[in-house]
Parts: sequence; C-alpha cells; structure tokens
Amino acid sequence: MTFDHLLKSIPHKFKPEEVQLLERAFEFSRRAHAGQKRKSGEDYIVHPVEAAIILGKIFPDSASLAAVLLHDLTEDTKVTIEEIEKSFGKTIASMVDGVSKLGKVRLRNSKEPQYVETLRKMFIATSQDVRVMMVKLADRLHNVRTLEFLPEDKQKKIAAETLEMYAPIAGRLGINKWKDELEDTCFAIVDPENFNKTKQLLDEELSKKEKNMKQLEKDLIHVLRTEGVKFQIVTGRTKRVYSLYKKLFKKYHGDLSKIYDIIALRVICKSTADCYAALGAIHQHYQPVPGRIKDYIAMPKPNGYQSLHTTVFDRNGSGFEIQLRTDLMHEAAERGVAAHWFYSESGKQSTNTKGKLDWIHELRSWQEEGGTEDDFLESLKVDFFKDRIFVLTPKGDVKDLPTGATCIDFAFAVHTDLGYYMMGAKINGKMSKISQELEQGDVVEILKTKQPVTISRDWLKSAKTNNARSRIRQYLKEHDKGIMARVKELRDFSLPTFMRKK
Ligand code: MN
Repeated sequence: MTFDHLLKSIPHKFKPEEVQLLERAFEFSRRAHAGQKRKSGEDYIVHPVEAAIILGKIFPDSASLAAVLLHDLTEDTKVTIEEIEKSFGKTIASMVDGVSKLGKVRLRNSKEPQYVETLRKMFIATSQDVRVMMVKLADRLHNVRTLEFLPEDKQKKIAAETLEMYAPIAGRLGINKWKDELEDTCFAIVDPENFNKTKQLLDEELSKKEKNMKQLEKDLIHVLRTEGVKFQIVTGRTKRVYSLYKKLFKKYHGDLSKIYDIIALRVICKSTADCYAALGAIHQHYQPVPGRIKDYIAMPKPNGYQSLHTTVFDRNGSGFEIQLRTDLMHEAAERGVAAHWFYSESGKQSTNTKGKLDWIHELRSWQEEGGTEDDFLESLKVDFFKDRIFVLTPKGDVKDLPTGATCIDFAFAVHTDLGYYMMGAKINGKMSKISQELEQGDVVEILKTKQPVTISRDWLKSAKTNNARSRIRQYLKEHDKGIMARVKELRDFSLPTFMRKK
C-alpha cells in the first residue's frame, strides 16, 4: 500500500500543501500501525487508506482525509490525541477524537449506563462538525465491504448496527450512494431469507419490465427532442433490494402492483426550468397516474433531495416512474451533505458540467474571496442540523425534533397518547415545565398519570410540531363537544318536565 495509490484513486487535483499534509498523515499512520494486520491478513494501513479513498471520491477535503488516515491510531496504537494535535493541529485532532468517540457507540447493548451518554455525544459531535460523521461513515463502509473475514456472529452484529444506525444517518446526510450500499450489504447478512426472497421478486419484475423500459426510454428521448427540451441524458435506475423490501412488506403487504418505481427513468436536465419543461412535455404525451406527481424541487426533502417525480403509463399501459433533475441535483443526491451545502451557499447553479468536482473548486474560489476557515466550518453545519435537535428518552431512543420544540412535542413524539397523560417532565433529571424548550442532546422523561389530564388551549402555544398540535386540537374538539353535550343536558333538566325534549 503506497501513498501514490491513495492519491491516484481520488479523482481530484489537490494543492501541493494538501498533498504534503496527506502524505504526512499517511506516513504517520503507516508507521504507527506497522506490524498490525487486519482479519483479512492485509497490513492494517490498507483500511485507513481504503476508507480515505471512499471519502475522497465524494468529499475530497484534505483535513477530513487526513482524519480518516489517522482515525484508528488512538484506539489501536500508542499514539495519543495530544500527539496528533501537535503534528496535525486542533481541527484534525478533534475530528479524530470525534470519530473514536462515535466508534464507542454500541446500539445493541442498550442496557449499559453509558449508552445514553455516548449516543448523546455522538449526535452533539455530529451537529458540531458534519465531517466527523462522514469520516465515521467512510470507515464503516470499508468495514462493511470486508465483513466476510470476520466470524459470523460478529458479521451479524456489525451489519445489524449498521442497518439501524449508520445507514439511516447516511440517508439523513443525503449520501444515498453510501446508504444504498450499506443497506443492501447489511440486509443480506442480517436477514438472508428476506433478502433472497425480495431479490428474487425484484429480478423477476426487472426481466418482465426491461423491454418496456427500453422502449419507453427511446420514446421519451424522441418526445423530449421534438418538444425542444434541453436534456443531457436519460438513464434507468433500479430499486435497491432493501428499499423494495421496506416498501413492499411494511407498507403494501407484498402487493407488487402498488410499487411503480421498481425501475425508474431518470432525465438529467440542464436547468430547473428545463426540468419543468420536460415534465410538461412528458404529461402531454403520456397519461400521468393521478396523485403521483411530486415536486421535490420546490419542496426539497429534509435531507436536501431535489427532483421532480411523476408516474406515467407507457404505450403498453404499464406504469413507470420518471425522475427529472439537473446535474447539480443529481450530484447532491449522490453526495448529499458534501454537495448540498455548496449549492445553497453559492445560491446559483453552475452550468459547467465538465468536471464532476467543480463544486469543490467553487468552494475554493469562494474561500479565496475572503472566506476564513471558520466560515468554512460554519458552512458545514448544514441547514438541517441548524433547525433540528436530537433529544433522547431515558432508554436512549433518539427523537428528531425541530428547534424550539418543547416537552409537549416530545411527549407526542414518543407515543401518540403519552401527551394526554402528561403531568410533568424531567429534563436531564431536573423537574421542568412541560412548555420548556428542549436543547440538543437533552434527556427527557415524561411523568404520567393513570387518568387523562385536562389539556388547556395554552398547550397549542407551546407545541411546535404538527403532530402534537393536531393531537391537541383533536382533544380540544372532543372536549368541547363533551361540554356542549353536558350543557345541553343540564339546560334540559332545568326546564319543567313537560317542556323537556324526549
Ligand atoms: Mn477503522
């Protein structure tokens, strides 16, 4: 394993001082890990280097890459975090420290008392610098790719933890490329029976639909050309096994006919305007399926995902999903957070499509225009972490709430009915008002009564989530109805008997 291999495997042109930093980190790590072997029998250094290549392909940030190269040193060698700080500075050292802390989080043994504490640290570390999470995910992805060398019980444990914890985080960060790979690899190990069952269904369906899709693809290109819509490519994408499994068996009870996006066609357009123009052209030529048009461009998903989705019937009457997006949106869907913050910062869309890594050059020029390292870090605290907080139940379940959410929101997020029985709340072990706003990492315990409590209209003022607000409204409506009925009853009783209604 050489430094040259690392550098050549990342399609990015680093500045001379960046190359120097990476080479120093590589040498430092290689020397410290010398003599150590992985379960595969390879030299240990192969792992940090491969993880760095994984990260470099979507996010060639030299500090993050140095941190990946150094990430296992404090755990597995005599090197201390102080030594890393001395050689590589505070930023890289604190990233390495954050990554080793994340490595201690074990989802499975949730009875451990430190569990809540480590989980909390994990989310706080994440929200302070998203890069820590990206380094950890690259580490995990390489470990997952090399699971075959571990004993079976360990494989299952790591795969289960990845499926429950790391894949959803990759999804939350919008890095779909990583999420897809983590999910399918781990699902096959955790639940081989369902994996194979779903995969077989998927393969059968694909072979049935493939011919129609090829036809639709040709057709679609023709339609877009004659309508004069500017587009770059039309490609097919097939649904992943795990995502099909979740949708099919958890939502549609195995009814495959309800799922339209087993194969989808993707149209990559030059601009947002072209996406809408293409959608219009498509709906003129194909019958759209009602209720299946989704505008994630105007209303992006919480992880930043943007595209237009529609489902249309082809000439043979089978339904196909078509996804329309610009090349930048496509990049963002693959790289997530790494690309997302960039185009929200630049505020405009680049039309330059020559190099895949143009966004990082844009970043550099933006930095050179007077941005500081602090601004750079600030920009990585992406929007969705800015307006979301992670709050824990005493058992360590994480609830993801909007900033400003209160104990009332939390109670309804934990359980639909819990809010109706809430008489008080403890935040981090201290009694607090139920209207108290929660902060990042708070551990919240809801104190409940046996009888439903009386909910006042004031609760609406303290509830920030739609879920809590609609629950409270529902309660108030029924409560009012109950009172009106009783008032009517009492009124009737105050009348002389002969005047009472039957
Ligand atoms: Mn590692």
